[in-house]
Amino acid sequence: MPKNITLILLQNYLGMFIYLKRVFLHQCPRCGQGNLFTHKWYQLGHVNSLKDQCEVCGQRTHLEPGFYHGTGYVSYALTVGLSIISFVSFYLITGITIRDPHIFYWLLGNTVALVLMQPWLMRLSRSLWLSWFFHDDDKYHTQAQSSNSKI
Ligand SMILES: [Zn+2]
Repeated sequence: MPKNITLILLQNYLGMFIYLKRVFLHQCPRCGQGNLFTHKWYQLGHVNSLKDQCEVCGQRTHLEPGFYHGTGYVSYALTVGLSIISFVSFYLITGITIRDPHIFYWLLGNTVALVLMQPWLMRLSRSLWLSWFFHDDDKYHTQAQSSNSKI
C-alpha cells in the first residue's frame, strides 16, 4: 500500500508542476503547448493581447464580453501577496518595523518593483484566470467547440 501512496503523491506533484509550468510560461491550459499571447511581455502596447484561440488545440480564449474582468482581482491578490512577502523579507533581513521611518525605503522599493512587474503580473493573472476555467481534460469545452464548428 505505501507504494501506491507514493505513486499517487508523485502523480499529484507532477500534475502540480505541469500546471504551474503552463501558468508561468503562459501556455494553453488545455494542451500546454500553444502560447496564449500574441507578443512578448516587453512589448508594452500588446501586453494583454491574447490569441483568439490556441494554435495547437483550438481552445478559444475570448469566450464572452467581460470574461477577463476578474483578472483585475487576481492581479490585485498577486500584488498584495508579493507585497506581504517583500515586507516580511525586508523585516527579517533588516529588522525594521513599521514604526521606524526607514520603512519608507521598503515602501518605495516595493512600489517601484510592483510597477516594473506589472506587465508580467497582468499576464500571469490572465494565464491563471484561464487555467481556472479550462483544464486538460475539459470535455465541456471540447463539445462546445465541436458544436460551434458545425454551425
Ligand atoms: Zn491548446
